[in-house]
Amino acid sequence: MDLFEKCIGFYDDPTVAQKYGYPTNPRTVMKMGMFPYFIPIEQAEGTEVVIHGRRLLMIGSNNYLGLTNHPKVKERAMEAIRKYGTSCTGSRFLNGTLQMHVDLEERLAAFVGQEAALVFSTGFQVNLGSIPALVDPGDILITDKEVHASIVDGVRQAKGQKGVQTRFFKHNEAADLESILKSCPDDAGKLVVVDGVYSMGGDIAPLPEIVPICKKYGARILCDDAHSLGVLGGGRGTATHFGLAPDVDLVMGTFSKSFASIGGFLAGRKEVIHWVQIFARPFIFSASLPPANVATVLACLDVMQEEPERVVRVNAVGERVRTELRAMGYNIAVSETPIIPIVIGDMMKTIQAWKILFDSGIYTNVALPPAVPPDMSLLRTSYMATHTDAQVDRILETFGKVKQLLAI
Ligand code: PMP
Repeated sequence: MDLFEKCIGFYDDPTVAQKYGYPTNPRTVMKMGMFPYFIPIEQAEGTEVVIHGRRLLMIGSNNYLGLTNHPKVKERAMEAIRKYGTSCTGSRFLNGTLQMHVDLEERLAAFVGQEAALVFSTGFQVNLGSIPALVDPGDILITDKEVHASIVDGVRQAKGQKGVQTRFFKHNEAADLESILKSCPDDAGKLVVVDGVYSMGGDIAPLPEIVPICKKYGARILCDDAHSLGVLGGGRGTATHFGLAPDVDLVMGTFSKSFASIGGFLAGRKEVIHWVQIFARPFIFSASLPPANVATVLACLDVMQEEPERVVRVNAVGERVRTELRAMGYNIAVSETPIIPIVIGDMMKTIQAWKILFDSGIYTNVALPPAVPPDMSLLRTSYMATHTDAQVDRILETFGKVKQLLAI
């Protein structure tokens, strides 16, 4: 049997796509002009993008503070290229550590209230590398059911490599976490992993309930703050938001959102960070974050200090959109942040809503099965500090029209 047969079938044949958990095959949707993924953006200026020569309002990015086009940030990235070139061409372990990486680690640790930090080349690698590195056979990994795919893969890796036990608790339900921890042996090492802000639902992990439970049962906690940095706790993340920075053991963050770059970091006490530095394979065996990306994050940290109003603004825009969409009767689930899902349910209706919005000049993201349960298709919208009031007016007006057109 030819290995590629399934790939060809998946593209052309709905029954093969269904076998792999997809409702239909990509070509069918593409033929209808309704394929909402991999659309090339020709120009990006933050709140506006150009696609097929048309200008659209962007409400599908994670550029929460609108810093990807900030003049100071761009200048610092270009200055880093002029000084160090475009790449380090090697692992942090060997030739890939610049003084800038070390400076950034110190800044980030202080920013999130931890002793030390370690910069990885992507956020995905942080979870993929740190979680297996931290556990030994016999340890137990416990995660919220809705954590990000990078945590899921880190946990799978730990299970496959080291035979650790894995448990999952109901989304944001501290009582379920407690019943799991209660059933774990006292002498097993335990790591609880949560997202600070959930990337699809836009809801926040209830750390004031989760942290005391972890302490009670001697479990360590890792909080993925990919979507919280720049947004919660004056930009410093979920633990600071709840006044719990000293009580959260490990904070993970990405640079691909508020920090206008790519990369990620893990922060915690210095011996633990040193351990991860030695044992996380995606850290050791991958080239280090390029100079321009490091400089971008350093510049973003400066801008966040100089312009704290950006954090206030992104939350204000989120609050207004949440309030008005709820008032229109949209189901925006349990969103509490500038990530606002619009749950439509039916897959075809969701794609239609996306298309009407797209044709009306609004760019959103679509989440369809298997990324969401079969009756939970949604549009993922997310907002920026740089969205103007006039832009928000236009977004809300368009959502009003879509609701009527599709009888959502
Ligand atoms: N964690 C969460 C919660 C995320 O949403 C993402 C990316 N969407 C990641 C980790 C991975 O980060 P990156 O894209 O920087 O690799």
